[in-house]
Amino acid sequence: MIRFENVHKSFGKHEVLKGIDAEVDKGQVVCLIGASGSGKSTLLRCVNGLEDYQSGRISIEGETIDAHAASIHAIRTRVAMVFQRFNLFPHMTALQNVMEGPVHVLGEDRDEVRARAEEHLRRVGLAEKMDFYPSALSGGQQQRVAIARALAMRPDAILLDEPTSALDPEMVGEVLSVLRDLAQEHMTMLIVTHEIQFAREVADGVIFLDQGRIAEHGGAEEVLSRPQNPRTQEFLRRVT
Ligand code: ATP
Ligand code: MG
Repeated sequence: MIRFENVHKSFGKHEVLKGIDAEVDKGQVVCLIGASGSGKSTLLRCVNGLEDYQSGRISIEGETIDAHAASIHAIRTRVAMVFQRFNLFPHMTALQNVMEGPVHVLGEDRDEVRARAEEHLRRVGLAEKMDFYPSALSGGQQQRVAIARALAMRPDAILLDEPTSALDPEMVGEVLSVLRDLAQEHMTMLIVTHEIQFAREVADGVIFLDQGRIAEHGGAEEVLSRPQNPRTQEFLRRVT
């Protein structure tokens, strides 16, 4: 479980997260929505220690996340991150990209990792593309490699920051479909997304972030169909 307790985060004088309290239970999918600049990426980045925070506590399975602690590398292997831009290693094939973390970070046996990596690539529909370099893959295919790479670390949770917003429209569906499968398999995921229909369908919970505060947090249907907060109502009117 990922837990946020009164998390405050500033960049200099600019307070970006103003006391975040929330939980993502094991096996749950929570979608994080909100206007540009509301702090969604910052919140995600704090969870795997890419950013530090000034006060409060973020923990995963009870273990506090502290960007400066020696344990942060170990924690980062437990919370995989998928970015808007796929961030694959350009000089490695799809398969090598997926194998990299387990072999070099976790120090696992190369043959076992290869078998598992192939399985993950099949699972995201890329059985035919394992030996392709990222430059020879479409955006949707690259993003599916990035998801396979995250899965290969056998993380406790996957954080996804607008995983479809850099994609051409015709490729959004194939990536959402992979995420839908993962949700059905109860992979714990915290997803920043503007795909409201997807959130409605897949998310257990939805958090609406407004200027660094949680303005609304509840079941997906509740927040997306019957928002109580005028700010949420206005946001949803704009994006849907
Ligand atoms: P978007 O939907 O555009 O991705 P977001 O909700 O992800 O927006 P963040 O990227 O978390 O927003 O940014 C929140 C605020 O923090 C913004 O005002 C941004 O300018 C500021 N910010 C983010 N990163 C930094 C940084 N490294 N240094 C200074 N300010 C930052
Ligand atoms: Mg962002």
